[in-house]
Formats: sequence, C-alpha cells, structure tokens
Amino acid sequence: MVWEFYAWRRDLVSRCNPNQAHYLLAQIQSEGHSLTIVTQNVDGLHQKAGSQNVIELHGSLWKLKCTRCSKKWTSTEVPFTDLPPACPACGGLARPDVVWFGEALDPQILERSYKAVREANTLLVIGTSALVYPAAGLPQLAKDTQTSIVEINPQETPVSYLADIIYRKTATEGVRLWWRRWQEQN
Ligand SMILES: [Zn+2]
Repeated sequence: MVWEFYAWRRDLVSRCNPNQAHYLLAQIQSEGHSLTIVTQNVDGLHQKAGSQNVIELHGSLWKLKCTRCSKKWTSTEVPFTDLPPACPACGGLARPDVVWFGEALDPQILERSYKAVREANTLLVIGTSALVYPAAGLPQLAKDTQTSIVEINPQETPVSYLADIIYRKTATEGVRLWWRRWQEQN
C-alpha cells in the first residue's frame, strides 16, 4: 500500500518542472557563487533545475534503501517494473529513502546543514512554514553565528522575527528581488 502511494507520488513529481526560483538558485551556483541548498522537499526539483550541493534533510522520492542490508541507491524508474521494488544487492524489500513521521533525521546530513549555516554569511529562508524541526531551528543557528537572515515567504512565519530582511513574496519573485539587491551591493 505504501509503495503504491509512493509510485503515485513519483509519477506525479516526474511530470512536474522546477519553478523560476529553482532555476535562479541553480544559475547563481553555476556562476561560481558558493550556495548550499538545504531542503525539506523530497521531490528532487533542485537537482532537476541543475543545482549541485543539495542537502535533502527529509530524503528523496528518487532514492531507495534496503530494509535488510541498508544499501542505498537511486532509481528514477516510473512506473516501477516490480512493485514493491527489491534490493539489487540482496533481494530484500526496498523502502523509499524518505524520513517518515516519527523517524530521526540522518545525523550526518543534519550536521552538514548546520555546518553550511555556520559558514554562510547569508541564510535565505524560502517558502517554509518553519514549523518542522530540526530544519526550523536553522534560522536560530544562523542568528547565533551572526549569519544574516533573509526570509522569502508570502506569509509571516514563527521565524520572521529573526529575519534581517523580509520579502513577503512568492519564492520566484522574492529570490529575484533579493538577488538583484545582492548584486547591487556586492
Ligand atoms: Zn539489500
């Protein structure tokens, strides 16, 4: 049942395209700027837009993991030939490499995101409700390490009070405005 749900999601997402904000972030990276993307999304759209250096806190619809031997692999097969899919190494039952409700995040992936925030001079907080921890704690970490915070969100969020600059805009509009301002100032 779970695999039917995930096969449906993979099919849906495989027909989605990145938005202009995904593309602009990828473009900023391709121009040689140091930009790490930390996402709670599992759709892989940052990579589809051409981004490198994407930290997927909650895993990915396109990654699978074996419930027997813990092997991890990437599969972009839509639809699956075999459902449920099996591990190519041991034949065990595969599961989506996605963090499910109540499961812990991978500590190494989490640490990479902390490191990126600590070393950054700017943290963009884009289109997140900032309700799901530990990702929602990253703005506070930025505050503690003197990283300036830019919030891009049409709505106020629980971390708005930490932001140095706020764009009450969609991701596409907000990232475009912020990037124009950043280029003027740097
Ligand atoms: Zn296996």
